[in-house]
Amino acid sequence: MGKDNIEDVDIVVIGAGFSGMYAIHRLRNQFNVLCFEAGDGVGGTWYWNRYPGARVDIVSLEYSYGFDDALQQEWHWPEYFSAQPELERYANHVADRFNLREHIRFSNPVERLRFDAGSNRWHVHTARGDHVVCRYVIAATGSLFASNTPDWPGREKFKGQVLHTTQWPREGMDLAGKRVGLIGTGSTGIQAAPIIAEQAEHLHVFQRTPAFTMPSGNRPLDAEYEQAWKQAYPQRRKQMLNTWGASLIEYPTLSAHDCTPEERDRILENAWNSKNAFQLQLAFNDVMTDLAANKYVVEFAHRKIRQIVKDPEVAELLCPKTYPIGGKRLCIGNGYYEMFNRPNVTLVDVKSAPIVEFTENGLRTTRKSYDLDVIILATGFDALTGALTRIDIEGLDHVKLADKWKDGPTTYLGSMVAGFPNLFMIHGPMTPAAQAQMITTGEWQVNWTAGIIEAMERDGCTRIDTTQDAERAWADEVDAAAGATVHRFADSWYNGRNIDGKKGGFMIYIGGFPRFADTCINAIANNHEGFVRV
Ligand code: NAP
Repeated sequence: MGKDNIEDVDIVVIGAGFSGMYAIHRLRNQFNVLCFEAGDGVGGTWYWNRYPGARVDIVSLEYSYGFDDALQQEWHWPEYFSAQPELERYANHVADRFNLREHIRFSNPVERLRFDAGSNRWHVHTARGDHVVCRYVIAATGSLFASNTPDWPGREKFKGQVLHTTQWPREGMDLAGKRVGLIGTGSTGIQAAPIIAEQAEHLHVFQRTPAFTMPSGNRPLDAEYEQAWKQAYPQRRKQMLNTWGASLIEYPTLSAHDCTPEERDRILENAWNSKNAFQLQLAFNDVMTDLAANKYVVEFAHRKIRQIVKDPEVAELLCPKTYPIGGKRLCIGNGYYEMFNRPNVTLVDVKSAPIVEFTENGLRTTRKSYDLDVIILATGFDALTGALTRIDIEGLDHVKLADKWKDGPTTYLGSMVAGFPNLFMIHGPMTPAAQAQMITTGEWQVNWTAGIIEAMERDGCTRIDTTQDAERAWADEVDAAAGATVHRFADSWYNGRNIDGKKGGFMIYIGGFPRFADTCINAIANNHEGFVRV
């Protein structure tokens, strides 16, 4: 503790999600590491998102830490795709097993960061009044942390309860006998809706844009499958990092154009029934790059929706027609389309008649009023940038990060921002982020960042920054990769067009994880290309 109760540490980590926890573990033997966490527990995304039905859609044997072989050998995942409680339990186990909690201050979000150019140190101020000075900040703030809450007027008038899906109470909610309105039909809304429909008296699903959804294929973990993974874990972890999405799912080699209509349908039917999530998008090697190939899959998905949903008008509304499949994130559901056959579920189209305001008794659209007891906002996130721009971050020459990013994020390798020295991001804007398996790639990014910090110490440097030229060159790479895919035809959190007025281009690097990792490694090997060290 220094003067005026200012504490002095080497590294502040922001966020005790999976990457933040690993950053503590990785660095604490060499450095004095302190982590601030907004929540009262560990797990990040899997701490905040405890809405009913929250479940990962990547195989848990992959979506888990690889840094400690005993951990991955001993941990048992009961299902292929773990539900939120299991992921939170795992995060807590890791925090206890590796004694991470002693480095974490909970319920204490960082509110302000200011770089002092004279001492090359960051001043960190938190909600609870902590003031810490440190040499490096690692922002492990998550891609999907800052919730998006549309500002319809009249919220104070509504007599019922309104909550965003990230605010679900730990003890759960009793929705029996309640008239529930669920706004939003992305991955979150689609997971939550069928479970809410089973409990509520009536569920109104307010849909602006329908999403493509396929069944999850979740099931209890097969013992043989688990054993095969555990026998080869270290090799498999390495293999994962050599694949596009850092996952051992099967990547297709066949073009949709290279088969007969019958073969195509058979492949798509197998994909739909497959036990691997995302298989529809992975049915052919050109679904994500060629609109004609994509159209086959779109038409197949429409046929499926029309087969499942009995009311033809509802089925038509549920068919996405304004963007290609995979353009937005494919949703993985569990009885989502079937749910619309229930008598207590109503689909409300808020594209043709948008929500105007909250009323005393519910919601009013331009067409009609709805009486509701509970309104659930599954309206997504100010993704990738929101977690950082909501902190008051001031770099060199008093420039604020939110101002620097007002026209969209600029980063070098998704890791650093010019003018904000000694501040590193994990899963920052313009990394592969959620387009690659995030726990394993988060570990990778933490290791790479730790290597940079270790080299600073070794070489006697005190400041590392990047340049605007390096940012521009990286932006060109990110754009080129995205421009080659069907993502450009959809508005989504990937490009910020899910938020009114948010500017910038595609915010995720989709050139594949191996290319990203090679670029990062080569930059360091090439005399810290793109960085400036003093
Ligand atoms: P999202 O995909 O951005 O979906 C938000 C939904 O809210 C969309 O349907 C959106 O409609 C709607 N919405 C937003 N503002 C609205 C408004 N003013 N009026 C009416 N509707 C509005 O967010 P999310 O569902 O929370 O998912 C975000 C990401 O989290 C996913 O893409 C995924 O990466 C991750 N996630 C993963 C899992 C999993 O692993 N299984 C589960 C949940 C989430 P528009 O489409 O028209 O904007």
